[in-house]
Amino acid sequence: MTTEEALRERYARVLERLDAACAAAGRKREDVTLIAVSKLHPAVDVAEVARAGQLDFGENYVQEALQKREDLAGESACRNLRWHMIGHVQSRKAAQVAGAFALIHTLDSHKLADGLERRLAVLEARQPVLMEVNVAAEPQKSGLMAEDLPSLADHILEKCPHLELRGLMCLPPVFDAGEAARPHFARLSALREELRDRLGLPLPELSMGMSGDFAAAVAEGATMVRIGTDIFGPRPPKV
Ligand SMILES: *Cc1c(COP(=O)(O)O)cnc(C)c1O
Repeated sequence: MTTEEALRERYARVLERLDAACAAAGRKREDVTLIAVSKLHPAVDVAEVARAGQLDFGENYVQEALQKREDLAGESACRNLRWHMIGHVQSRKAAQVAGAFALIHTLDSHKLADGLERRLAVLEARQPVLMEVNVAAEPQKSGLMAEDLPSLADHILEKCPHLELRGLMCLPPVFDAGEAARPHFARLSALREELRDRLGLPLPELSMGMSGDFAAAVAEGATMVRIGTDIFGPRPPKV
């Protein structure tokens, strides 16, 4: 099998498994967006998966993401892709990411919100964002503690008119653990309910679930799953 065939094969299998996960959860497939996580994989692999019909791609590192998109600028299959920033964004990089992604999943501080807002005001652009939640309150991990969500949400609504708050994202503390991650996904969903009541906003998106646990995330209401390894294969090391 060529690399291209292997990619298409893996992508087709993920689509089948996502269909099955939606069916098992009694959910409509169109209510769950598949984000293909291409971090550390080359642009040619992105182009191949795009030719197979994939529209949403996720990247973790600002420089790599912007470079890859430049490399793909001439690819007709990549013209209408939607790029998602799913990695931690340092507030000093706010100006580079503002307005450059369909959705930023990892807003986790007032400082980053303010940095994005400043740049967006100049660009006269709106930026959809999710707040990243540290669902198990793990030390050393990025994301907001649950108790800090209302404060950042209020700040966005009051002080950041160019940010559009669309929902929540999490990376659970267990990895590749399937059902074991499920209580963490349930927690993110419950936090969204609380915020909805407080803010009176729909907050339609819940970004949760990766290769090893996306079926559990779909069962708990994920509207976006972020799948890397099961589509692109093992990641090359970060250099
Ligand atoms: C890398 C990454 C993924 C994809 O993980 P896989 O296990 O390869 O599917 C999803 N979300 C985030 C935030 C990531 O950094």
